[in-house]
Amino acid sequence: MKEIILVKYGEMVLKGLNKRTFEDMLTKNIKRRLKSIGHFQLSSAQSTTYITPLDEDIDLGEVTERVGKIFGIAALCRACVCEKDFEDIKIKSIEYLYDILSCAKTFKVNAKRSDKAFPMKSPEICAELGGILLEKFPNLTVDVKNPEVTVTVEVRDTNAYVHAENIKGAGGLPVGSSGKAMLLLSGGIDSPVAGYMMAKRGVHIAAIHYVSPPYTSDRALLKVETLCQKLTDYCGSIAFFCVPFTEIQEAIKDNCPEEYFTIIMRRLMMEIAQRISEKDNCLALITGESVGQVASQTMAAMACTDAVCRIPVFRPCVGMDKTEIIETARKIDTFETSIEPYEDCCTVFTPRHPKVKPKLADIEKAQNSFDFEPLIQKAVEGTQMKVFEYQR
Ligand code: ATP
Ligand code: MG
Repeated sequence: MKEIILVKYGEMVLKGLNKRTFEDMLTKNIKRRLKSIGHFQLSSAQSTTYITPLDEDIDLGEVTERVGKIFGIAALCRACVCEKDFEDIKIKSIEYLYDILSCAKTFKVNAKRSDKAFPMKSPEICAELGGILLEKFPNLTVDVKNPEVTVTVEVRDTNAYVHAENIKGAGGLPVGSSGKAMLLLSGGIDSPVAGYMMAKRGVHIAAIHYVSPPYTSDRALLKVETLCQKLTDYCGSIAFFCVPFTEIQEAIKDNCPEEYFTIIMRRLMMEIAQRISEKDNCLALITGESVGQVASQTMAAMACTDAVCRIPVFRPCVGMDKTEIIETARKIDTFETSIEPYEDCCTVFTPRHPKVKPKLADIEKAQNSFDFEPLIQKAVEGTQMKVFEYQR
């Protein structure tokens, strides 16, 4: 019996003329994720991608697990390939679904006939196959409202397919279909979640991280790199930029009023992120900020930060509670790494009494009292890049 995986598109089915571009991007993303498992043939028709394994011993469970994390997919299922002939559909349904049907109490049959040349209409397929399965499995009764098992028969262009599972996909749009943006990635809980959320909207993520040795350690950097690697499960490959930030932080400490440390530091982070974004073709910045979480995340503080930004700043966690952010962090497996206790450059030189409602004019005046430009340039030049690839 030949088994394949059917991948049903999410939101991209609504796309008009450029649906093909989305489809190509999704196919490319699926190919990349499956490369290390074996050979597959991928084809697309009727808002579905068919993944056909070409090698003998491919673990389809592993395939569905990987494909389940690819954005752009509403649902996926393992299905048995049948001839477009009711007799074959009947035999294969019994054989392919034997284990699941012999344990279940209730079921229903659901038929979809996109090939209108097929001689039986959908209700007929349901009634015929339902009757046969009832006879074959005396343990079963029909429950059309809330069945334990839904046997689905899809009659499509070249074949018919039978399946009984529908796995929820990751949703969203294929990564890369919305362009690229730069994620300010700390070692905390929020920013990896922010990156995941934007990747879900089809954004290809690059990441930037600021280190301040000796105030921050190698272990702290390693933790952020681990987070970056984990994000590749959902985001695909990520270019990771590591910025030497010590001199800038020391200059802020030596030259600016303490209550403005954090805001000025964030403005300088944004400035550096934008310069690297320009080189790396990133069209927006992404942070893990959430309104009201800390002093630098009030609306007034965000306004002062955004005043230096020439490209949009996305804060997908902005309206989320910490508990919601943590829930997502657990789902994407970044939480346990994020809570490892290493220092971040943001926690070095934290002011005792940060300004909660800073005024832009005051911040600008404080920042302009020192010429940060040479240090900004030096930090940009000293930035090191490495690429994290999806790895399994
Ligand atoms: P997170 O959990 O993402 O660290 P947070 O609640 O700890 O967020 P802050 O430390 O104020 O908040 O940081 C706010 C945002 O600034 C982070 O979400 C992240 O996008 C960015 N950020 C903070 N520190 C760094 C860093 N060292 N490198 C890169 N970006 C950073
Ligand atoms: Mg943090």
